[in-house]
Amino acid sequence: MSKVQQTESVSVEEGETLVEVNDLKTYYGEGGLIDSNPVKAVDGVSLNIKRGETLGLVGESGCGKSTLGRTLIQLESATSGEVLFDGTDVTELSGADLKNWRRNSQMVFQDPESSLNDRMTVGEIIREPLDVHDWKTPRERRKHVRELLDVVGLRPEHYYRYPHQFSGGQRQRIGIARALALEPEFVVLDEPVSALDVSVQAQILNLLEDLQDEFGLTYLFIAHDLSVVRHICDRVAVMYLGHIMELGDTEELFENPKNPYTISLLSAIPEPDPTSDRERITLRGTPPSPRDPPKGCPFSTRCPTKIRPEEFEDVDDDLWVAIEVFREVVRERSRAERSTTDQLKELLGMETRFSDIGEIRQELFGGLDVPRNIEKHIDETAGYIENNDDEQAREYLRDVFGSICDTDEPDDFVVSDSGRFSHCHRHLDEYEEPDEFTPYSMR
Ligand code: SF4
Repeated sequence: MSKVQQTESVSVEEGETLVEVNDLKTYYGEGGLIDSNPVKAVDGVSLNIKRGETLGLVGESGCGKSTLGRTLIQLESATSGEVLFDGTDVTELSGADLKNWRRNSQMVFQDPESSLNDRMTVGEIIREPLDVHDWKTPRERRKHVRELLDVVGLRPEHYYRYPHQFSGGQRQRIGIARALALEPEFVVLDEPVSALDVSVQAQILNLLEDLQDEFGLTYLFIAHDLSVVRHICDRVAVMYLGHIMELGDTEELFENPKNPYTISLLSAIPEPDPTSDRERITLRGTPPSPRDPPKGCPFSTRCPTKIRPEEFEDVDDDLWVAIEVFREVVRERSRAERSTTDQLKELLGMETRFSDIGEIRQELFGGLDVPRNIEKHIDETAGYIENNDDEQAREYLRDVFGSICDTDEPDDFVVSDSGRFSHCHRHLDEYEEPDEFTPYSMR
């Protein structure tokens, strides 16, 4: 678990905690026959959700947002760590205890087209959780469903209609009514408006806010649309490769992001002011596989402000980017599964598609002035690769060009009086803070 360190004096956050998550991990496919490395979808998440708040969860697709949401409400089993609801660790519950607790936490899904059973009437869909939990009498259940239809803005006659008779926005209202049927305290909203037209999005967001006020609900709001998150969330958690990179008050985080990943993510939001000189940061490549995440900081393979080793601090930015890209290529080569033909060719000493290091080198460093103290390391690496020792090449590059970002997972540093934290070595005294550092452009 990351330690939380303080960089400034901190005042304790206000508000009672409803959900406390400690070092939560959700891994898939452990001990598989083909690849023994598990997929680390959620990899050591710690956070609190306060009663009555909306916590936003943002990040690129595949970063683990939905898995985290599903693990919190036990639709997925945690590999390790704790999820405390009012002090009870729900990862330890099973059987009747788990079924009883499930009434407390529900989920609204992204796609109202596929999340409702088209063979059931709207009344049956909303009543189903009440039937499963044997809630009161059948007569009271029917009455409760009619009340729920009213609460979400549908009409009593909709009870006997089928989902395909409704628009996307109305179907999402049905999904919300169903989620509220058992009067939960906590609701995970997994991209609840992304499949809807913009005008309908606003109606559903207003409905969710009204319901929160009326029933005192606590939301985890998963989204990729940052402007929606800014509008509806009290606090925001920014996720990357199974880790929370920054978490704090929404306005503070949008106005003055502290983590390099948050800075990059927010820079992609269209700027309403055409005269603004804000720089858009285009990240190089794609996130690494969660089966083989980087050893140090999860963002280290793409971070535009990654810390360099002292001896290379003055290296030209273009050359440094080329070195980072070279490292990425070697890293991917060492991960790639060779086809049987390639393995056979290797055994016979024949050329394979993995032997083209000269071409890659020319492509990356051809037009650059490479000083001897760097070139000798590229030569050494190329030698390992020509001998088909990609793993040794990868380690060699990490030893020579790697920094603390490649070797050590950062702690969580408290970066504001409101208790916002950021997961980055740059908050250590010896390094510059990310917002004082101009990111160099990436290829
Ligand atoms: S720890 Fe290093 S790689 Fe990670 S976000 Fe901070 S500067 Fe970037």
